[in-house]
Amino acid sequence: MIKSHSRGVHVPDHDVAVVGGDVWTPSGWIKPGRVLISGEQIVSVDGETDASGASEVIDASGKVVIPGLIDTHSHHRDPGFTHKEDITTASQAAAVGGVTVTVGMPNVDPPTTTADLYKTLIEDQANRSVVDYNHNPSPTNLEEVEKIAALGPLGFKLFMVIDAKRSYPHMPGLGIHDHGNLAQIMEAVASTGLPLMVHPNDQGLFEHVEKSHFEMGLLGPEPYSKAEWMYDGAVWSSAIATLIELQRSIEGPLHVLHMMTDRTVELIRRAKSDGQNITSEVNAFGLFLADWEEVKDRGPYALGRCLKPEWRDALWAGIRDQTIDTLGTDHAPHTIEEKEPGWENMWSAPTGTPQLQHYLMKLLQAVTRGQLTLDDVIRITSVRPAQIFGLYPKKGTIEPGSDADLVIVDLDAEIEVRREDVLSKCGWSPYEGEVLKGVPWMTLLRGKVVAKDGHVTAEPGYGQLATRV
Ligand SMILES: [Zn+2]
Repeated sequence: MIKSHSRGVHVPDHDVAVVGGDVWTPSGWIKPGRVLISGEQIVSVDGETDASGASEVIDASGKVVIPGLIDTHSHHRDPGFTHKEDITTASQAAAVGGVTVTVGMPNVDPPTTTADLYKTLIEDQANRSVVDYNHNPSPTNLEEVEKIAALGPLGFKLFMVIDAKRSYPHMPGLGIHDHGNLAQIMEAVASTGLPLMVHPNDQGLFEHVEKSHFEMGLLGPEPYSKAEWMYDGAVWSSAIATLIELQRSIEGPLHVLHMMTDRTVELIRRAKSDGQNITSEVNAFGLFLADWEEVKDRGPYALGRCLKPEWRDALWAGIRDQTIDTLGTDHAPHTIEEKEPGWENMWSAPTGTPQLQHYLMKLLQAVTRGQLTLDDVIRITSVRPAQIFGLYPKKGTIEPGSDADLVIVDLDAEIEVRREDVLSKCGWSPYEGEVLKGVPWMTLLRGKVVAKDGHVTAEPGYGQLATRV
């Protein structure tokens, strides 16, 4: 049912007309523009205002129309940790936040290390997600990698971190830091053609940093959050240097997660200029929960890691010059009961924060502050994730033939983040009490309104498996 119509031609057979808003397209903004949708797809994008012939008219006057967000890094906690979150609650938070594709991570229980486990997870979630979804399996079983790849994941996820004292979130069996194992895994994934996402971590250095904090009794939120300032962030950058050196000869697409420091950005910048097939991701907590002054009152509910000012500056600059390709939420919900012990000993509380519902709004604050442009936000949240993970141009763009995945944003509206409005099962947000300007008013997924005015309007099961084009 993909139809293409030229500008100005009356289109009688469409179901939805979005008119009056400023519409982003890959070739520039149309102000105001019109998006016509037939079934699940966009049939026309133009500068007309006529909505006659549409069975449903959405008046987007005074608002902007951008592609649905694609988050390829979310911890849905499902299966195994569904007391924190599940695919339904995560996807409901996503829909309200403007996210139309959410992709989970393998540190669930059982971890998705085999084709059978990946298949079981996908089938189990088929009728429970509000938005389109997929899952990044673990490539730690070499003999399973090809079999998993045949089942339709968008990429693989590897942790280089093995948590020294907790079984979660960095579970035994998922973390690989031996470089020989790492190289073999990179080769196995490269042969599938799928991108390999890696959480970089120098395990030996990390354990030394952690142990020295324990021994000095540095257990509170501040020393914990600044622990990786030891050796100027080499915990991350030395691991990234290893990955880059291995990728030079292995050559498969490598997506480096968790950009944190100026050195990590610089290493990626250099690798890209050398022509390596490497992309990178920054996280919401690295941009918005990274300054101690901003987060000290939130303690375990913010942390995460604090970043030096020059590290934070490098992240913003890296987004602007496209060294950093994507924003992954690293949506990582934990319950209040799990977080609360962090006030006494941060090392005993799980790391991570819920993000899906609010990160678009936080990025829009960065636009207001002049740190990013709206086009930067669209590129890192939708266009580049779609391109890197094989969804483009079905998703990640607004053009004829693409899925009608749209977020209509009111840049002038304000909301206060309140605990009672949080949709994530964990029931809290690190941004509670903040008044945010720039609000996703309506989210459309494949032509259907899935969220409006902060409320979910679609049933679990509407979401489909998001597969590579
Ligand atoms: Zn993560």
